[in-house]
Amino acid sequence: MRIILFGPPGCGKGTQAVFISKSLSVPHLSTGDMLRGAVSSGSEIGLQAKEIMESGGLVSDKIVFSIVKERIEKNDCEKGFILDGFPRTVNQAEKLDLLLSENYKLDCVLRIKVDEEEIVKRLIIRAREDDKLDVIKNRFKTYNSETQPLIPFYEERNLLYNINGMQEIEKVSEDIKKVIGAI
Ligand code: AMP
Repeated sequence: MRIILFGPPGCGKGTQAVFISKSLSVPHLSTGDMLRGAVSSGSEIGLQAKEIMESGGLVSDKIVFSIVKERIEKNDCEKGFILDGFPRTVNQAEKLDLLLSENYKLDCVLRIKVDEEEIVKRLIIRAREDDKLDVIKNRFKTYNSETQPLIPFYEERNLLYNINGMQEIEKVSEDIKKVIGAI
């Protein structure tokens, strides 16, 4: 299956992606992890991405798409994959559509719905320094302006499934399994 996990920062999509990846035996593709890997390896991409990531902004579509394309074209993605943190802009979603349409199609976009005010409060309690607070605020600003428009984009394609993310982790997981099982 080819699944996108979608939701605002702090909604728990990384945790859920690990569960689904194990239960379906398909790779978990996290662009955040890939970019952090590039940063720590000191590669050209990492050098370009570092500052933007630290500020809570978005790395350019060109860079992100190139790493996703390279990863999706590997053999282990033939049976499917879980995308976590990608796409984050309509342009990325359109590029993904084109890439997949040559061979495969997406099965679903699982949107983990949370009360954003509540999540921001929780994250702010954890962030003790002002600069971290600014990064959190910037991540939500970016999500609202760049990433939210993907909701109607996937709704129009009948691919969007809402999951209540304001529950225990295990319950969110169960709900996700039910949706996947019914597709
Ligand atoms: P994440 O771990 O998914 O929260 O990603 C960490 C950071 O990596 C984000 O705040 C962005 O700066 C960058 N990033 C991850 N995925 C993308 C993407 N699809 N497009 C642009 N930037 C991304």
